[in-house]
Amino acid sequence: MSEPLFENVALIGIGLIGSSLARVIAAKGLARHVTIATRSAETLEAARALGLGDDYTLSNAEAVAAADLVIVSVPVGASEQVARQIGPHLKPGAIVTDVGSTKASVVRQMQPHMPDHVHFIAGHPIAGTEQSGPEAGFAELFEGRWCILTPTEGTDAGAIARLTGFWEACGSKVEQMDPEHHDLVLAIVSHLPHIIAYNIVGTADDLEAVTKSEVIKYSASGFRDFTRLAASDPVMWRDVCLHNKDAILEMLARFSEDLSSLQRAVRWGDGDKLFELFTRTRGIRRSIVEAGQDMDAPNFGRNARKPDGKAPAE
Ligand code: NAP
Repeated sequence: MSEPLFENVALIGIGLIGSSLARVIAAKGLARHVTIATRSAETLEAARALGLGDDYTLSNAEAVAAADLVIVSVPVGASEQVARQIGPHLKPGAIVTDVGSTKASVVRQMQPHMPDHVHFIAGHPIAGTEQSGPEAGFAELFEGRWCILTPTEGTDAGAIARLTGFWEACGSKVEQMDPEHHDLVLAIVSHLPHIIAYNIVGTADDLEAVTKSEVIKYSASGFRDFTRLAASDPVMWRDVCLHNKDAILEMLARFSEDLSSLQRAVRWGDGDKLFELFTRTRGIRRSIVEAGQDMDAPNFGRNARKPDGKAPAE
């Protein structure tokens, strides 16, 4: 194993993302020492039982005192509070980053609390699942996935290069973007799909003419794919909606317009319009598979056979 990239890493927040980082850091020997901090004694004990780090503390300030790299993995609405707690205790030269799903708000919340002697670079790994907590993480989560860094003007190029090297060592491909542009892109590729999923599952739940047992029984016809997104962590997604409000509202307005046009095509039996749209969207799916961002198996690989000939568990 080669030399670790960092001597001391502090992981603030040890849920799905924090614990996946802990696992990949350990698996690839990316740090000599890992300190884990989280808000509750219960989660801290779970992290300790899983052996995710070297030191464990409930104090964010204590966790960062010796750290060369600090990674904050908490819901975006908690970013300011964490930044305020760690700011005065950061070591000169330390790199501070986060993994939050919105970026302009995180930069606004954290930057003012960062002393001049540290390098703050916000980030977002585009990798996740609908699970949460320290048990849910796994070392391969970031493999082949993008990680977007959103440095602001004047950020030290050497620090950006070190953080880029870290994410690449975790298996990610790294890109840089303005925080505002990140938020617009993510509003359409992630935030809107989740809101639509929460909405459609909520609508089905409210139906009276179709029973809940029928919805569940026949869910494989499409509904099931929305339920995976709609099972995502409510705190995380509440914060994403509150902290990327403008971009989400802009995308929702466009979505509603396009939906009205689709509604009109259905009402007036405009088959050509429906066929044209459905053909265009099929092409998008093909591009995603070609870009290696999903598999080309029917039904998202659910019925694919494993090498041992058995069907995978769902
Ligand atoms: P998670 O599994 O729910 O873990 C959240 C962690 O943050 C826990 O350690 C929790 O501590 C701590 N926390 C929760 N509320 C807090 C608060 N108010 N103050 C301080 N700490 C708090 O969440 P996650 O999925 O890892 O998400 C973490 C971040 O990654 C979020 O910003 C999310 O937007 C981003 N992200 C998530 C995904 C995804 O698919 N899940 C993907 C990319 C990025 P306790 O358990 O001790 O309370």
